[in-house]
Amino acid sequence: MKTVLITGATRGIGKATALLFAQKNYNVVINYCSNDNLAQDLLEELNKDRTCSIAIKADVSDQPQVKSMIEEAFTTFGSIDVLINNAGIAQQKLFTDITQADWNRMFNVNITGMFHCSQAVLPHMIHKKSGKIVNISSIWGIAGASCEVHYSASKAAVIGFTKALAKEVGPSNIQVNCVAPGVIETDMNINLDAETLQQLKEETPLQRIGSPQNIADTIYFLSSEQSDFITGQVISPNGGFII
Ligand code: NAD
Repeated sequence: MKTVLITGATRGIGKATALLFAQKNYNVVINYCSNDNLAQDLLEELNKDRTCSIAIKADVSDQPQVKSMIEEAFTTFGSIDVLINNAGIAQQKLFTDITQADWNRMFNVNITGMFHCSQAVLPHMIHKKSGKIVNISSIWGIAGASCEVHYSASKAAVIGFTKALAKEVGPSNIQVNCVAPGVIETDMNINLDAETLQQLKEETPLQRIGSPQNIADTIYFLSSEQSDFITGQVISPNGGFII
């Protein structure tokens, strides 16, 4: 049985992805950083029919915590075949109001977290000569968002990270790809008012906001054998919002 580790997995896109991988008979390691209750609830849901999921608390921006999380996952399941770097934070602020602490936190979570997790998992994947890594960027990492310069810059970094790492580990038969979602209905967008959401829908050729399931399906495709010849790519499920 294959094992997937999903960071930031207790809600939104990460949760939909965890449920999908469980349906596909993976051992699922859900990472979370703060809410024990949410993690416990999801774990119960995942282990309803079979006990093949564990939850590990770790802040992805903290390298020692990530190292011990990966060790625990290996001790439990013996391998990590797929790593989904999903954990992320967002913040809306005028560029001139962004503090040094805002900037550092954004990069520490959104890109350094990915560095920590990938670096801890890759030696095992390289040894096995197989593995898949899927990194979650954003349409704003491609197009840039006003009042989200630090978020956009960190998500653009995810794309550069993906392309460079894909070239480096391709000879070891490891695929590294990136999913850059459009606007998706999750807690990350909870602050958007109804008018803004309506406007975003109207600006989207498919006339709707995406669901976490839409993104989970794309992530699963990039983790499956169906995508074995795809690496270093950015796939953007965004309803046509940017083309
Ligand atoms: P979300 O806020 O519901 O999920 C983010 C998850 O990451 C949360 O569970 C959170 O606890 C976790 N997290 C945050 N910091 C962490 C840390 N230091 N260590 C471990 N976990 C941490 O939002 P979501 O929409 O499900 O976001 C998932 C990913 O998708 C993020 O990377 C986000 O940037 C990206 N994304 C979301 C949208 C959208 O419209 N919702 C669009 C493009 C990209």
